[in-house]
Amino acid sequence: MQGFLFDKDEQSPPVPINTGSSSQHLAQLFDTAKECRKCRLAATRLNFVFGEGNPHADLVVIGEAPGAEEDASGRPFVGRSGQLLDKILLAAGFAREEVYICNILKCRPPGNRNPLADEIECCMPWLLQQLQIVNPKIILVLGKVAANTLFENNLSLGSMRGRIMKWKEYDCFITYHPAALLRNPNWKHGCWQDIQVMMRHYQQMTGQSNAHK
Ligand code: URA
Repeated sequence: MQGFLFDKDEQSPPVPINTGSSSQHLAQLFDTAKECRKCRLAATRLNFVFGEGNPHADLVVIGEAPGAEEDASGRPFVGRSGQLLDKILLAAGFAREEVYICNILKCRPPGNRNPLADEIECCMPWLLQQLQIVNPKIILVLGKVAANTLFENNLSLGSMRGRIMKWKEYDCFITYHPAALLRNPNWKHGCWQDIQVMMRHYQQMTGQSNAHK
């Protein structure tokens, strides 16, 4: 692109290696990951649910694992939980397209059972690479299973919610899984409190209110 600066007998600088954008890197990672057969879930999945959204997102949302609708469509959080997640994000000032949404497991566990330790171990490298590429400012973790998995603890959700938790270099916030909120609508108030804590932190980090971008 800089060629116009140089006469024919001058050499333009070499094209740097690794100029690919985050979206190209995510696409390349997806191409590899979707062939994954490292665990038993490859045999029962309909689709590999990689994740989707803004490759440069400030906010990454991490759920547990695809459910039936996600497995059928290949997209994360598209069922009833996903519709509620979209509302939660909007209340926080983020359109769904602005954030990056993914799960710890990329394939549906049969009957929506909890992820098993060896499945998590096989799948975690994909998540770590996604995070490296997107490089978010904050992470929203949905539910106890996802939180216990990331933090490698067995703490209650109550003890992890509503505060910043550092995981690797990331500032994480943990709240209820939307599926739990659908079963227990009286927990929505607590979720909103958690989201407000996250928003305040984000505003401090960026010096702007995302609700008025
Ligand atoms: N629940 C999750 O944890 N992830 C999804 O993608 C859908 C439902």
